[in-house]
Amino acid sequence: MSSGVPSYQPSPPRMARLEALFDEMSELTGQRNAIDGRIVEIVAEIDRAELWSSTGCRSLGELIAWKTGVSPHNAKTVAAIADRADELPRCTAALREGRLSLDQVGVIAERSGPGSDSHYVHMAESMTVAQLRMAVASEPRPDPVPRPEPGRSITKTVKGEYTTYRIRVHNLEAAKVDAALASHRDGLIADWKSDRDPVAVDPAGDDAVVDEGAQIPPMPTTTDAFISLVETGWDADVARRPHGQHTTVVVHLDIEKSSASLHLGPVLTDADRQYLLCDSTCEVWFERCGQPIGSGRSTRTISRRLRRALEHRDHGTCVVPGCGATRGLHAHHLVHWEDGGQTELDNLALVCAYHHRAHHRGGITITGPATRLIVTDGDGDVMRRGSLARPPTTAAPDVPAYQGPTGERAQWKWYTPYEPPPPTSN
Ligand SMILES: [Zn+2]
Ligand SMILES: [Zn+2]
Repeated sequence: MSSGVPSYQPSPPRMARLEALFDEMSELTGQRNAIDGRIVEIVAEIDRAELWSSTGCRSLGELIAWKTGVSPHNAKTVAAIADRADELPRCTAALREGRLSLDQVGVIAERSGPGSDSHYVHMAESMTVAQLRMAVASEPRPDPVPRPEPGRSITKTVKGEYTTYRIRVHNLEAAKVDAALASHRDGLIADWKSDRDPVAVDPAGDDAVVDEGAQIPPMPTTTDAFISLVETGWDADVARRPHGQHTTVVVHLDIEKSSASLHLGPVLTDADRQYLLCDSTCEVWFERCGQPIGSGRSTRTISRRLRRALEHRDHGTCVVPGCGATRGLHAHHLVHWEDGGQTELDNLALVCAYHHRAHHRGGITITGPATRLIVTDGDGDVMRRGSLARPPTTAAPDVPAYQGPTGERAQWKWYTPYEPPPPTSN
């Protein structure tokens, strides 16, 4: 116990001040726990009545993080407790009464077995979050769901200009990888040789040979084979996932009928057509009465420069309030391209695929100009950035001060983990 305490002893006035501060902290923490408990109740009600479906958020956690300004991790904790509030009445009541903290109840809600409410409620008051985690982790898991092939993994380390991948797969899969690499390497070497042969027979002078030697690419290696494999996979992906930033899809657009279909694919709905044609990564073939009259890629193409400018202006995240998505973002045309909207910074907004689709399907609206963007949810209400936090107008909850965990070293030897009851057969 004494190991972490500094040897320095505060003088009596300092001690008294510290005590007073701890006192206040204890009272505030009790109130905060109670407030967290009420927030959990509110979230549970929002979830139960499915009130959040029209908010434009893709998950309850996202809504909580947005409206309360907490981190996604904290929001997940709130959502986990709200989700099991009915099943953990004692623990959530202790939170409401200020006796347990959000994180303490969170550990129980996120990981404990069903029916463990009364097992944890008293014990939790004296346990730190770390101790509670350990207690919950020691629960026997009656149904140890066999993790699918636990040994497989991909890890990545970036150092300087190079990135190292470590890929671990089953030997059967490794055989596939080896065969694919060998095949790609053979292909690359064959190409490399056929590129070289004409030079080799070229009866050039000595000087030319030296020049030639300096410019010839080295013989393809297994690493080149790997990159070739990735690029081939990427190309194949284009056909399957048409709307990524790096992929291209071909759309046939009949300009008279204003209808479009995917290349060798189905006719698109109005929403899908607008969605697909909005982000400029696809290639459009204009047609009149089924006859191609030209391809129109250039009109809508976003240059690398424009894309960077857009990412810079929109801070690299989806512009929909409450959404923090940073990957696979689309450049949405505020005035649609079909309606004469220009592919210019002022007419573009960065959105995630989810909100982009939601917009073109009418779930949310995104109205420009880009500098004064207005986003409304499914009910037509304007979505605003920032949390709902404001100065309180009601008194703080009247609960006892939070005493906190005792901090005692847990005697794990004597601890009996919670054991869920055997499943009944009805
Ligand atoms: Zn769009
Ligand atoms: Zn979004």
